[in-house]
Amino acid sequence: MEIKLPELTYSLDALSPHIGRSTLEFHYGKHHQAYVNNLIRLTNGTQYENASLEQIIKEAEGPIFNNGAQVWNHTFYFLSFSPKGASEPKEGLAEAIIKSFGSFAEFKKKFSDAAAALFGSGWVWLVKKADGSLEIIKESNAGNPLRNGLKPVLTCDVWEHAYYLDYQNRRPDYVKAFWNILDWDVISNRF
Ligand code: MN
Repeated sequence: MEIKLPELTYSLDALSPHIGRSTLEFHYGKHHQAYVNNLIRLTNGTQYENASLEQIIKEAEGPIFNNGAQVWNHTFYFLSFSPKGASEPKEGLAEAIIKSFGSFAEFKKKFSDAAAALFGSGWVWLVKKADGSLEIIKESNAGNPLRNGLKPVLTCDVWEHAYYLDYQNRRPDYVKAFWNILDWDVISNRF
């Protein structure tokens, strides 16, 4: 991924009412943009000036790691959505979910429970391990599984800025709505 704000593949109204226009205007237009701007400013003149986001996530510390990971995480998150994508996992990912969690419904429950239980700000991830199996992991703040050699497949941003305008304190309602706008064509291709 380049160090720039990605073009969204849908309009700012397209995810409503699950994620509304105001949330996207702030979350994508302000927060995500700020991480991009911060990262460019922080890496200017350093060893990371021409580094990939993946290299920054694996090697950097402190503010450069935080902003670099947040750029990658938000791009990955926002490009998981579509108002008319596939509603269920496909092919290899579908099989791996059944193998690792028993069923798609059980996976959704475990992922939603992890999102509700994550204390403070962070990200819940579905990752593919080296042996091809899947795991749900919770990361605080800007945490990204690439740093631990895991392959991200899906993520849910549970920072309050991701849902407060639509759901205020009701994070579980945001996570419930999150399932309605995922594009499983895109997500399945990551597996
Ligand atoms: Mn966010």
